[in-house]
Amino acid sequence: MALTKEQLAEIDQLCTQSNQTLRPVAPDLEKVLYQPFQVLDHGFVRVVDYMGNDDSVVQAARVSYGAGTKKVNADRALINYLLAHRHTTPFEMCEIKFHIKLPIFVARQWIRHRTASVNEYSARYSIMEDEFYIPRPEHLAAQSKVNHQGRDETKVLNAEEQKQVLKILKEDAVKSYQHYLEMINQDVAGNPIDEQKDGLARELARMNLPLNCYTQWYWKIDMHNLLHFLNLRADSHAQYEIRVYAEAMLDLVKKWVPHCHEAFMKNQKTGKNLSGPALNAIRKMIKGEKISQEESGLSVREWGELIELIK
Ligand SMILES: Cc1cc2nc3c(=O)[nH]c(=O)nc-3n(C[C@H](O)[C@H](O)[C@H](O)COP(=O)(O)OP(=O)(O)OC[C@H]3O[C@@H](n4cnc5c(N)ncnc54)[C@H](O)[C@@H]3O)c2cc1C
Repeated sequence: MALTKEQLAEIDQLCTQSNQTLRPVAPDLEKVLYQPFQVLDHGFVRVVDYMGNDDSVVQAARVSYGAGTKKVNADRALINYLLAHRHTTPFEMCEIKFHIKLPIFVARQWIRHRTASVNEYSARYSIMEDEFYIPRPEHLAAQSKVNHQGRDETKVLNAEEQKQVLKILKEDAVKSYQHYLEMINQDVAGNPIDEQKDGLARELARMNLPLNCYTQWYWKIDMHNLLHFLNLRADSHAQYEIRVYAEAMLDLVKKWVPHCHEAFMKNQKTGKNLSGPALNAIRKMIKGEKISQEESGLSVREWGELIELIK
């Protein structure tokens, strides 16, 4: 997470300022506001602003004139009820703004979540940094034979294969970046390589950079949509490289809105939606009745997933 001295000084400067406000605040999030939390080798997540806290959800749900707070336990139960019954608009009353640094291939998955406001670092305007995601050896696994969409995390490449993959990734990154600088006619310090030449525009030269190159963006989203994002991406089915970002953000959500976080973990993250036939099969099992996959109305895959879920 190579933040420059200037960037760190800017963050320190922000941390020394204190503004008085009548608005609701989240004390635990205030303590880490602006602070970058490292994700992957050069990435980070940091909160740069937020609006509302647990009370804001309660206040909106009750369409209250005051702070919206009755008793802590009543508020906590209300938040849990709202989330459990998908009464989600009160959660849209809270917003959060992140600054995220992430590899481009992770950004491509991330940007599919359309309900956020995004502003990305411009590679037309600025020079891309020579930072590339190089996985740790233990994350270099083989293609899964069951889930065709991802790796089999139990089948890590052997040491020799790891060495070769890392060599290819590093060499390609260095080579592409050298070509990038050559095309824009600049050295790493930003000085022209050849004073006589203009060099290619950055918007074109960038096209040769690999997908493990890092980009950055500001990403603002309301809590309802954030929880939807986290439900999908802090999940074991999500690719490791986006999952680690979602997990870091989940920790920040806990600091921001602890009761909403608790309700989310209980109702969505550790819970599961069941189909009608799956529910019927469970009912029969509880009664001690025998039921086969064929009788259940579930496909072989669905039946396997159900058995996996309840074992
Ligand atoms: C494990 C995993 C594997 C995936 N694999 C693939 C893949 O192979 N290929 C691929 O292309 N994508 C893939 N995706 C992306 C996935 O299909 C979704 O695009 C992504 O998760 C965003 O979800 P979303 O649309 O619910 O979120 P958001 O865009 O945040 O939308 C939130 C909700 O708003 C509503 N909404 C937003 N925009 C619209 C709209 N235009 N029309 C109707 N409703 C809307 C929907 O209810 C939606 O659920 C994968 C995602 C995951 C988590």
